[in-house]
Amino acid sequence: MTRPVRARINLQALAHNLSRARKAAPDSRIMAVIKANAYGHGVIPVARALAAADAFAVASLEEAMQLREAGVRHEILLLEGVFDAGELELAVTHQLQLVVHCEQQVRWLEQFRSGASVHLWLKVDTGMHRLGFAPDVAQAMWQRLQRLSYVKTGGLRWLSHLACADELSSPVNDRQLERFAEVMRFSESLQGRAVEGSLANSAALLTRPDMHFDWVRPGIMLYGASPLLPAHTADAALRPVMTLESRLIAVHQRRKDEAIGYGQTWVCPEDMPVGIVAAGYGDGYPRHAPSETPLLLNGKPVGLLGRVSMDMLCVDLRSQPQAQPGDPVVLWGEGLPVETLAQQAGTISYELFCKLSPRVPRVYE
Ligand SMILES: *Cc1c(COP(=O)(O)O)cnc(C)c1O
Repeated sequence: MTRPVRARINLQALAHNLSRARKAAPDSRIMAVIKANAYGHGVIPVARALAAADAFAVASLEEAMQLREAGVRHEILLLEGVFDAGELELAVTHQLQLVVHCEQQVRWLEQFRSGASVHLWLKVDTGMHRLGFAPDVAQAMWQRLQRLSYVKTGGLRWLSHLACADELSSPVNDRQLERFAEVMRFSESLQGRAVEGSLANSAALLTRPDMHFDWVRPGIMLYGASPLLPAHTADAALRPVMTLESRLIAVHQRRKDEAIGYGQTWVCPEDMPVGIVAAGYGDGYPRHAPSETPLLLNGKPVGLLGRVSMDMLCVDLRSQPQAQPGDPVVLWGEGLPVETLAQQAGTISYELFCKLSPRVPRVYE
């Protein structure tokens, strides 16, 4: 038998979650966000399972090329646009759409000549204060980009990103919406017709219909994790896509006062059985998960003991003294929401997914 850790990827759950997104935003088109190897799930099988999406979004030309090479014909948006002028030619050849977030990119586009038409998404900073133009500058940029001969009618659109969409009561959300609506109105009055825009990530898709506009950009919800803080019942209908699982590889009877693992941080309070699971931070299980973080053994919760090591971790078998090497363990996924572990380990589901190690085989079903 090979080392038993694996990530089962349920492609039906992925398609189900996409249909939940459709139901929640019936009047918008869906740009499925599959950057960072589809949040660690494996970008090619994920793109195939999400073929019903209207477009895909990725973080780089390399990620987009991987999709084109696999025969994916959807519209693909580069969320940070091009990183140098040299990428423009390739981006246009492969019919990629570009975010434009800085003046340098505007200058590259002004010097660029193309026979093909190009779709640009002008990024306005409505309050995230990370990428994009302040609203007044953005309006000036709109006018410059509108003059490009290769940008056809409808080929220039607005995009912005929300800073606090996971916090439903944050006043930042309404401020950002207001600023976004204002630039939309500006360009519509300038052009004398409707212009397309996109503001909502997963959290806004599920909770703010007034933020849907023409395109929604769900990421995390497609993978079945809640985008809301704290994880919310409103998205109970999402199904987890990834289940990280392994097996017990040893069971020991320990004596009271024996300490477990690196640093000897956890000391047995009584004579007790301890199990060793073949999974560790080298697989992407967070090293900072504290003792008592739940795992599922034979479908029932057991607690983590002591420090997580690279290839192994230890669990408390007092509730399952009959457990044996070979018994199945779930680290997160079906039956054990990834958010639970994320919260225990002081991180978010996004990071756990992205840090799943390449050495963990993904098994698609
Ligand atoms: C990653 C990303 C998204 C998706 O966000 P989720 O919270 O995963 O839904 C949407 N828009 C942009 C610009 C992003 O970078």
